[in-house]
Amino acid sequence: MSAQLHITPRVTIPDFLVGEVQSKLAYVDESIVRAHVASTGDRITLDLREQAEDPKRSELEEKVQRVVTSMVQGAFKPKVQILENYLDRPVPSSADPNPELLARGEMFQEAAGIFTVGPLVTRLISFFERQFIALADSFGAAPYRFPTLIPAKSLERVGYFRAFPHSLSFVTHLREDLDAIDNFAQHAACDEHGLNTPVDSFAKIQALLSPAVCYHLYFALADKPLPGGKLAATAVGNCFRYESVNLASLERLWNFTMREVIFVGPKDFVLQNRETGRERMRGFFEEIGLAYRVESANDPFFIGEFKKQAAFQSAFQLKFEIRAALPFKQSTLAVGSYNYHQDFFGRSLNITLPDGSPAHTGCIAFGLERMAFAFLSQYGLDAANWPDAARKFVA
Ligand code: AMP
Ligand code: ZN
Repeated sequence: MSAQLHITPRVTIPDFLVGEVQSKLAYVDESIVRAHVASTGDRITLDLREQAEDPKRSELEEKVQRVVTSMVQGAFKPKVQILENYLDRPVPSSADPNPELLARGEMFQEAAGIFTVGPLVTRLISFFERQFIALADSFGAAPYRFPTLIPAKSLERVGYFRAFPHSLSFVTHLREDLDAIDNFAQHAACDEHGLNTPVDSFAKIQALLSPAVCYHLYFALADKPLPGGKLAATAVGNCFRYESVNLASLERLWNFTMREVIFVGPKDFVLQNRETGRERMRGFFEEIGLAYRVESANDPFFIGEFKKQAAFQSAFQLKFEIRAALPFKQSTLAVGSYNYHQDFFGRSLNITLPDGSPAHTGCIAFGLERMAFAFLSQYGLDAANWPDAARKFVA
């Protein structure tokens, strides 16, 4: 039996934080299957797995109040900077692509946040990839291939556990122990909640699934001078962010793919390339008639770190998102981002420039599934209606 719990937050949630608070409420308690914050910020509705009685209700309410207070109290509205605005570009479709993607076998859900895409979407992604690689080439970016696993100690070194604990995905293996392995082989079995295993089956965690692409480059450059004093690089890779009940179609995946163009060097080198990259992408988005805008944003830091870190990113203009229109839901979706990390990775990982100072870093990142999804939301699945370049590529 499902149930709802309504909560009036002790402090009203300002409109610029409604989305952030709502997405964080998913992590408050395992009994929550959906969380909704009213746009007025004065009412929270939780859909629960089952009816909750006291003391569970009070415990839930107290946890929710803690999240709201921590994220809202003392927060100030960031100045949203809009660098490009082409949201009113006319596009031919306003239909939800999901039903057709499913019906045509172009999208298959293996589990929440885990999707296979079919030939048309794959070709469309290759079309975008060709463009992103051309962008990388325009900077003479060196190609890299990074692993899907990322060592726990590397993530620890860059403070990832404190900043984004909620979205981590852990990797382990069975302990090297004959009895443990035999025991697992005989008793491991799935139920509707997941895999049940004998206690004490698993080894200590050494690796996680990588949440981003560019980190691997910084780890490879750590603890030495940066050869040549500057570097442009590019790579595509699987990325993993556990988004709990916020997982939704191709819009929000647990396992997605990111193409990055990465810059390491002096401050001006990184900032100028980030800007040049944006200008070049503006031309491409015009060519394919994408409705989007580029605006300042912040990363989805967890509750305790959120206020401070988001304000910092905003004050120093560290992150800009490419938000494409999703006409079928009158909203936008971040399909990419232009990022500047200052000398954070240079300092944390001891990557030095010829003058001995820490290197600055930045990256241009594209979410491939989201890029395709936003395009299909604006142009539909019939390639005959697509802009020339895209139509010819998939023909
Ligand atoms: P970020 O490093 O957070 O700016 O992410 C870069 C890009 O990756 C975003 O602009 C999205 O297009 C994509 N992305 C991030 N998280 C997800 C997700 N959970 N599912 C699908 N795409 C994502
Ligand atoms: Zn990056």
